[in-house]
Amino acid sequence: LSFTSLLLSDKTLTGLTKSGFEKPSPIQVKAIPVGRCGFDLIVKSKSGTGKTAVFGIIALEMLNLSNNDIQVLILAPTREIAAQICDVIKSIGADYEGLKTEYFIGGLPIEDDIEKLKGCHIAVGAPGRIRHLMESEHLKINTVKLLVMDEADKLMESSFQHDINKIYHKLPPQKQIIASSATYPDKLNKFLAKYMQSPSHISP
Ligand code: AMP
Repeated sequence: LSFTSLLLSDKTLTGLTKSGFEKPSPIQVKAIPVGRCGFDLIVKSKSGTGKTAVFGIIALEMLNLSNNDIQVLILAPTREIAAQICDVIKSIGADYEGLKTEYFIGGLPIEDDIEKLKGCHIAVGAPGRIRHLMESEHLKINTVKLLVMDEADKLMESSFQHDINKIYHKLPPQKQIIASSATYPDKLNKFLAKYMQSPSHISP
């Protein structure tokens, strides 16, 4: 199977070629079409299987770049993961003119974040920093159409739960949610059930 058979836009296809992605990985073949239909999705897949590109491609395909609102919010448990997600999306999204993807993590000056938020379409961040930007009214998330919780098994840890709840309640009622996780303990099922609407479960 090819990326073309997944009916992606020309811009995405060019970006994938430039990124050196020749054909979709098994999880990409299964998850991208379901995600593009707008269903909530739980992607059970380890790092290295191409899961970042799954939600990255779904995110790119749903953007409306004629407005400069935040349309996609991606939560990640560590700064390294947030930075990697940002790199993958920038690479695949290279042909999307005017696209702005930024990451927001603790330990960097808030002034830099305020600059990065201007015209930002895809925001990637650690839950604590996203909540902080929201509560200080620098970040409005009522325009978000897609929420991604990457490495959800780590995000459900208690230190993040309160932040995620606060973020979730500021999202608009109509939105898509995608969660990715390498493991799928019962506890995670319960955690995600609070947020997601009868999600499709997809593994490679
Ligand atoms: P991930 O599972 O998201 O951590 O991705 C692991 C690595 O595989 C990343 O560096 C991606 O850039 C790369 N990758 C993802 N999908 C593909 C693909 N279809 N072909 C080649 N490389 C890929």
